[in-house]
Amino acid sequence: MKLVRFIADNGPRTGVVVAAGENANGGIVDLLQAKAEYTDIMEIINAGQPALESLNSAAADCPPHYRLEDVTLLAPIVKPGKFLAIGMNYKKHQQEAARLGVQEQTKQVWFNKQTSCITGPYADIDPGVTEKLDYEVELGVVIGKPAKGVSKEHAREHIFGYFVVNDVSARDWQFHTPTFTMGKSFDTHGPMGPWIVTADEIDDPQNLGLRCIVNGEVRQSNNTSQMVHDIDSQIEYLSTAFTLESGDLIATGTPEGVGVAMEPAVFLQPGDVVRCEIDAIGAIENKVKI
Ligand code: MG
Repeated sequence: MKLVRFIADNGPRTGVVVAAGENANGGIVDLLQAKAEYTDIMEIINAGQPALESLNSAAADCPPHYRLEDVTLLAPIVKPGKFLAIGMNYKKHQQEAARLGVQEQTKQVWFNKQTSCITGPYADIDPGVTEKLDYEVELGVVIGKPAKGVSKEHAREHIFGYFVVNDVSARDWQFHTPTFTMGKSFDTHGPMGPWIVTADEIDDPQNLGLRCIVNGEVRQSNNTSQMVHDIDSQIEYLSTAFTLESGDLIATGTPEGVGVAMEPAVFLQPGDVVRCEIDAIGAIENKVKI
């Protein structure tokens, strides 16, 4: 199931994306108008499987209320408890980062993106004061059932679903200090979506092609099979220290091809259009504000 937040006549609303006959882009069943048992995405994540079963039958009996192209899609989750991101988690990205002086680590490298940086799948990216604006396509994970002390063998039981995220980075501010935090959390630097694809729809999250395309030029193209620390190991490691709660978000790392590592480095400019896409999930596309 694809769960989406959007604005149409009213909003914001939560909906289910469904096929819409001839319209290949599909439509949205508005859960409020469908009088579904659940109408809020956090309620759905908290309730888990029973909510999904209930929504499945509600959406199956209901023709879509909107065409996808007629609504404004929003970030599927607005204020998660946590928005965590792992750095240097694809081998070739590790190597390009090493060329820039980022030391290779044996442990997982975690930082926070502040939740205030979250923005919609087609919203503009505001560079703010950075002069080194960069992109990072990543597979996003939404935590379902809370996880504490979870082994990697059981990690999947705690994943609600997946989405596309651009871990937009202000490289100058990122390297002010070793923590990365300042350069990873500018307002609007967390575009995500276009929806959450529930975990049951993704056969193997470690075998998904992912790409970042800037103004039509492919800059990043790889596969989630190339992660250094797979998603299950990430959940094991994080949940050893603290509880991952329902609705928490994880950005699972980016492959090689970031602008800062190009020779010479190329940064995003006002008017640039950045498209991040992942097989079986979808695409987000954001313009850098002029
Ligand atoms: Mg990243």
